[in-house]
Amino acid sequence: MKLTLLGIWGPFPIGGGGCSSYLVDDGDTKILLDCGSGALSKLRDLYQDSLSLDAIVLSHMHADHACEIDLFRYMLEFGQLKAPLKVFSPETDRLQYPVFDAEKSFDGMQISVGSLTLRFTAVRHAVPTMGVRITDADGHSLFYTGDTGWFEGLIDAVSGSDLLLADACLRDESNEKALRNHMTVAQVLSLRQQADCKAAILTHLFSDGAPYPPLIDRHAQYAVEGTVYVI
Ligand SMILES: [Zn+2]
Ligand SMILES: [Zn+2]
Repeated sequence: MKLTLLGIWGPFPIGGGGCSSYLVDDGDTKILLDCGSGALSKLRDLYQDSLSLDAIVLSHMHADHACEIDLFRYMLEFGQLKAPLKVFSPETDRLQYPVFDAEKSFDGMQISVGSLTLRFTAVRHAVPTMGVRITDADGHSLFYTGDTGWFEGLIDAVSGSDLLLADACLRDESNEKALRNHMTVAQVLSLRQQADCKAAILTHLFSDGAPYPPLIDRHAQYAVEGTVYVI
C-alpha cells in the first residue's frame, strides 16, 4: 500500500500548506485518514475527475483533522463522489447526513475496508481520539496515532508496524499542558524503537516557524507534504 502526505500541519497550516490529512492507497482501495484544511483540494489535484474513496477515517473531531468533512458532504450531495461514503469516527454527531454511512470507532474495533484491515486504539487526547493500524493483504502495516500524548499502552498498540505516522507536535517537554495531548519528537523516536517499527514519520508539525531539532534516528523523518511512501 502507499501513503501520501496531503497535509501535515497542526493546529493551523503554513501558507500553501494543509492540516492533518493522509491518503492510504492500496490499488482499488482508498482510505483518507483525517481531512484537515486543504485535503479535498490536494486530492482533486491528484485524481482530477477519477477521485474515489472507500472510507474516511477521522481520528477525532478537532478542526485541524476534520474541518473539511462538510466539503466532502457537498461533493457527495452533488454526485461528485459515490454516496453513501463510509466514515469512521469516535464521535458521529456531526456526521448525521444521508450521504455518510457513519460508524462510531471504538477501542479494539477491527473492520475490513476493501483489501485493508483497520484496528482502532483509543489514545490520549483532549477529546475522544482513535489511533488506527491499517494492514494490507500482504501483512504490511501502518500505524497512525492521530493526536496523542504519550502513554505506556501505545507501545503495544504500535508494536511491529512497518511505518509509524505519529503526532510529534512538541519540540521538547517545556509545555506541561500540551504534553497531555501531544508527543514530543523524542517520545516518538523512543516509541519507534520500543515498538520495533521499521520507520517513523513525525507529523502534526507546529507551524510557528521555529525549527525542529535534527533527527538522530536514521529510520525517522519529519513529514513533508506531497511525499509518498510505499509500505
Ligand atoms: Zn491536531
Ligand atoms: Zn486534536
